Amino acid sequence: MTMPGEHSADLHKRRSAAVARGVSSMISSYVDHASGGTLSDVDGREWIDLAAGIAVTNVGNSNPKVVEAVRRQAERFTHTCFMIAPYEGYVAVCEQLNALTPGSFEKRSALFNSGAEAVENAVKVARHATGRRAVVVFDHAYHGRTNLTMALTAKDMPYKHGFGPFAGEIYRVPMSYPFRDGLAGPDAAALAIGLIEKQVGADQVAAVLIEPIQGEGGFVVPAPGFLPSLAAWARANGALFVADEIQTGFCRTGDWFASTHEGLEPDLVTTAKGIAGGLPLAGLTGRAELMDAVHPGGLGGTYGGNPIACAAGLAAIETMRELDLAAAARRIESVMLPRLREFQQRYQYIGDVRGRGAMLALEIVVPDSAPPGRLTAERGWAKGAALGATPDAAKTAEIQRRAHTAGLLLLTCGTYGNVIRFLPPLVMDDPTLERALDLLEFALQ
Ligand code: PMP
Repeated sequence: MTMPGEHSADLHKRRSAAVARGVSSMISSYVDHASGGTLSDVDGREWIDLAAGIAVTNVGNSNPKVVEAVRRQAERFTHTCFMIAPYEGYVAVCEQLNALTPGSFEKRSALFNSGAEAVENAVKVARHATGRRAVVVFDHAYHGRTNLTMALTAKDMPYKHGFGPFAGEIYRVPMSYPFRDGLAGPDAAALAIGLIEKQVGADQVAAVLIEPIQGEGGFVVPAPGFLPSLAAWARANGALFVADEIQTGFCRTGDWFASTHEGLEPDLVTTAKGIAGGLPLAGLTGRAELMDAVHPGGLGGTYGGNPIACAAGLAAIETMRELDLAAAARRIESVMLPRLREFQQRYQYIGDVRGRGAMLALEIVVPDSAPPGRLTAERGWAKGAALGATPDAAKTAEIQRRAHTAGLLLLTCGTYGNVIRFLPPLVMDDPTLERALDLLEFALQ
């Protein structure tokens, strides 16, 4: 199925003559329609969707409630610009974000078009509110593709390659990566904090910005205690603790937000992706006194919190509540994890199985190889690295190709390109999920 059908091949020809090469696609088939768990192409072929448009269609594609809300709003008005003539939908989405994000303190929100834009605004607010400039980010981090967010993102190829110079006052420290560093969470945090204090200066830091579970960087789940230690350090030193929940948010990890799993109450939270069932919407939510530190007119944009996107967001959030999609994500974990662990027993090249809720991954390695010690030793933390941890990107790509051929849409990720990640729509039914696992098993054989 990797060979496109006739209609897709025609579209591909048109695309090659019209669309910039830098915008690539994972498969060469063109989508005709999609639902809660499958995508169908213009030639009538079907894929089981373990991508959800990169963690976006948590409530499924073309969710009926979202579609109806979009239709109703589009009939009333499509755009006024909230900075010109405000409307209820924007306010209602902010109310929902304030209520749903972790932390019982008073909050304010602002809405944007994309995750990257939300992250940019988190940095703006953090710098404005603290009067400091430095932003601390982590190895393997992904925060977007704009100039500032490229600087925050770790990986050169393909995200940053040749696109510099990048924004300044960004400092990168090691991430807790249990499979590779073997460190307990508080020890990994002590290492990061030591570097921050020596190389940045505790009183210079405006924000410590982190994905509670890293997305593009490899579905890296930090060891327990890592995030709370960093949050405590930030609080003690007048820096903001900022959680980028763009990929982890909206029930994906079995709770509304991944920060909740370790009881974190971030000062600022960025959201996007799963918030609006596929419509472009993003949010920045935080402590009222920080968000309101910015002068009127300091935040905004033409389309941010577009009324149609807000209507979709409200419908998607209502659906997540009604169907208890956080519980659905936990159920997906309970179906998938035992099968993934079984695969790990069978296939030596599966070095690690990890993740939470419906955000799960396999890390593919060369069995019995030495760990990539030089990389980690330079950072002084190779002591516990797992044996057999050499990344195998070629095998990862081969598994992905076989999955696509079998009709299973599968994403990879990771700094070393060797992680297979699973992001099913949270409304996927059990038979479809089981079928997906069978196809995965075929791809792994
Ligand atoms: N932060 C995280 C954690 C993400 O996963 C992403 C998108 N993959 C972004 C930021 C950027 O979001 P967007 O692509 O909507 O700009």
